[in-house]
Amino acid sequence: MGLLDGKTVLITGGARGQGRAHALTSAREGADVILLDITRQLDSVEYPLATADDMTETVRQVEALDRRALTFDADVRDQTQLDDAVAAAIAEFGKIDVLIANAGIWTRAPFWEMSEQMWSDMMDVNLTGVWKSAKAVAPHMIERQSGSIVITSSVNGLEPGMNYAHYVATKHGVIGLMKNIALELAPHGIRCNSINPGAIRTPMTDQQGAWDMFAGHEGGTPDDLVEGGYHFHALKGHSFMPPEVIADTALYLNSDLAASVTGVTIPVDAGHLLLTG
Ligand code: NAD
Repeated sequence: MGLLDGKTVLITGGARGQGRAHALTSAREGADVILLDITRQLDSVEYPLATADDMTETVRQVEALDRRALTFDADVRDQTQLDDAVAAAIAEFGKIDVLIANAGIWTRAPFWEMSEQMWSDMMDVNLTGVWKSAKAVAPHMIERQSGSIVITSSVNGLEPGMNYAHYVATKHGVIGLMKNIALELAPHGIRCNSINPGAIRTPMTDQQGAWDMFAGHEGGTPDDLVEGGYHFHALKGHSFMPPEVIADTALYLNSDLAASVTGVTIPVDAGHLLLTG
């Protein structure tokens, strides 16, 4: 018996990183998955976003667990692409029980030097993209009077971060959005919650910009990331955490174990906020 037996889980940004962990954890617990990712680059993002090969690999790993995976090359900034993907997924799987709004980008600049493009890309993906993703599934969930939505915020949804004001604004914003979605969908038996990851090792953070940030100078290395991760978290033995720790929390929130939990945000940060709060 899995915690998500017979469920269908839609994951944005599902090709890799935390999205892949959500896919594999959901599949292991009995769900079929619908994976959306953009698989092309945004000009304002310096590290590579997902590729078609990333998506193929996630599908391979889901299918190795004897579950089905549907994929869509879709951009969370585009309501039509989201709506079309949702309609096609419902036609194939019959329903969508869960949305994990996970897609996101991370860029850095002092707020007074940030370009309008950098600001608006961040808003469009990390904040408006979450609204559009929830908007795409809400009518179907309301019709069925059932569903669970999990939104990926960040510890930066609860605290500032040096030189990424736009990211901080979106990650605070999705917590407010989560609470309103939870309020408006509660009468329909649909829950909505969010997660605040600490430092998670994914392609978003295992790249030169993040190595430099944790080193405190240019020319940083993966060793600087690991060392910095230990200082970032309070809990013994916790440097950058694997994405599965976030997938496990989403699993709880999307399962009947959390049937009475809605409108909350859960830090999964190995005590980071104890150090900064
Ligand atoms: P990641 O870069 O590996 O994954 C993000 C995914 O989103 C990628 O597959 C990317 O292609 C996809 N994506 C980006 N723009 C998109 C768009 N417009 N439409 C569709 N897909 C798009 O990084 P991750 O760490 O797995 O990030 C997942 C989420 O976790 C993000 O929302 C991120 O902000 C958040 N987060 C990450 C960390 C961390 O330390 N890695 C910490 C806190 C929060």
